[in-house]
Amino acid sequence: LMQLSVPLNFIGFIYREIRQGLTDIEQMFDLLDVRQEVVDEPGAKPLQVTTGRVEFRDVHFDYDPNRQILKGVSFEVPAGKTVAIVGPSGAGKSTISRLLFRFYDVQQGAVLIDGQDVREVTQESLRSAIGMVPQDTVLFNDTIAYNIRYGRPGASDEDVQRAAKLAQIDSFIERLPDGYRSMVGERGLKLSGGEKQRVAIARTILKAPPILVLDEATSALDSQTEQEIQAALDLVSKGRTTIVIAHRLSTVISADEIIVLKDGEIAERGTHPALLRKKGLYASMWDRQREASEAEERLRIARESD
Ligand code: ADP
Ligand code: MG
Repeated sequence: LMQLSVPLNFIGFIYREIRQGLTDIEQMFDLLDVRQEVVDEPGAKPLQVTTGRVEFRDVHFDYDPNRQILKGVSFEVPAGKTVAIVGPSGAGKSTISRLLFRFYDVQQGAVLIDGQDVREVTQESLRSAIGMVPQDTVLFNDTIAYNIRYGRPGASDEDVQRAAKLAQIDSFIERLPDGYRSMVGERGLKLSGGEKQRVAIARTILKAPPILVLDEATSALDSQTEQEIQAALDLVSKGRTTIVIAHRLSTVISADEIIVLKDGEIAERGTHPALLRKKGLYASMWDRQREASEAEERLRIARESD
């Protein structure tokens, strides 16, 4: 009986661990509002990240057959480089990040990481290789420490705090009644959009993945905080393959390549100066944003002199 009780305990332990893991994955799917329709291929192997090169090869995708979302999109993010995706709302930018994560499968073409089709590797290995700062972060109903540590479950308290500091959320957390043990999420403290985004950034800093996806990661922040966070994001993306999806063009100037997506197709591509010289879609988006921010600045100055 003694001999048996140890393995049984152990099985119980593993079972709880797995259950916990599954709950988190299910919760994550719930939070991200996606159907859990993608499953591992029989005999799927773990993704082997060698350099972290990402490739979208002639990707066609729709959520519903009556409406094509991506119509043959091809691009490559060389290892350690940054590619920015810009374009009007609804163009299919966030869809690209969902396909990289394999929340959905493409209908035609392929998404590859270091030459391996994402459909042929285990989802667990795929998701552990990618860090995502999504457009809308939804927090787990747990402590703020748990929400940050989710990026690397074995991380020490010091590591969690260091990540929080880099994401500039540490002083906010320290002012909470229970500090890092404060409960957040729908059933706890409600955080603002910018605070939640900083938690997601801290989580990603802790995870330190080879591939990074920033989907409008600084959009919920005011421009002062944005500049500060941008510095932290530049630090994490250094030497990592990065896809930046951006609404505010000021954040993509230094990208190695900018892809302008329009109606599910690549309308233009190039570096910031090359795209400006082209005087096309990107250049007009740039002019429009500059005019808007100049008008905002004039308004601010006028208000201050009142
Ligand atoms: P972007 O990030 O460029 O604003 P998205 O990739 O989020 O655009 O969405 C592209 C298009 O796909 C949009 O028209 C959007 O309404 C639609 N879409 C996004 N998610 C879903 C979904 N889960 N089911 C059906 N349509 C969707
Ligand atoms: Mg989007």
